[in-house]
Amino acid sequence: MNLVIFGPPGAGKGTQSNFIAKKFNLYQLSTGELLREEIKNKSDLGEKISSIINSGDLVSDNIVSELIERFISKKEYQNRIIFDGYPRNLAQAKNLDDLLKNNNQKINVVLKLSVSLKTIKKRISERKDLENRTDDNEETAIKRYKTYEKNSKPVIDFYEHSGLLRVINGERTINEISSEISALIEAI
Ligand code: AMP
Repeated sequence: MNLVIFGPPGAGKGTQSNFIAKKFNLYQLSTGELLREEIKNKSDLGEKISSIINSGDLVSDNIVSELIERFISKKEYQNRIIFDGYPRNLAQAKNLDDLLKNNNQKINVVLKLSVSLKTIKKRISERKDLENRTDDNEETAIKRYKTYEKNSKPVIDFYEHSGLLRVINGERTINEISSEISALIEAI
């Protein structure tokens, strides 16, 4: 099974993906993590994207597409990927469909975590003490939320239209959300 976990920054995508990956033996593919690795390793790509990430904008579709294609085309990840943070716009959603089709795969379910901006601001301010992310200040968090708002509607419509979308109330506790997600996946 391949699944997409979708939602604004700070919605809990990473936390829930991690949980699902362990429970269902899937692979968590976080494009944000992959990009942060590039920055940490000071690769050419890392140098190019660090200011974009720190501003809260999206990195170009081509760059991210290349990163995920490496995984989609590998046998060991076949039909066991959680896409965490991809797609983030309609072009990426269509690209993901094409990449999967070319590798005889598809998306089985899209989990959308719904969370308000107020909750996200609160979570980001708490996360600052736990993780060392240079894009986790309130200003960038708001920018990232706005970027999400600008791009998310067509993606949601796209997956709703294909019957894959499941909306999850992300305002609850981590355990409550995990339980709902588990039940949902088990029912597929
Ligand atoms: P995340 O860890 O998912 O919150 O991503 C952190 C940052 O990485 C985002 O604010 C974007 O700048 C960049 N990023 C992550 N995933 C993507 C994507 N699918 N497309 C473009 N940029 C992305």
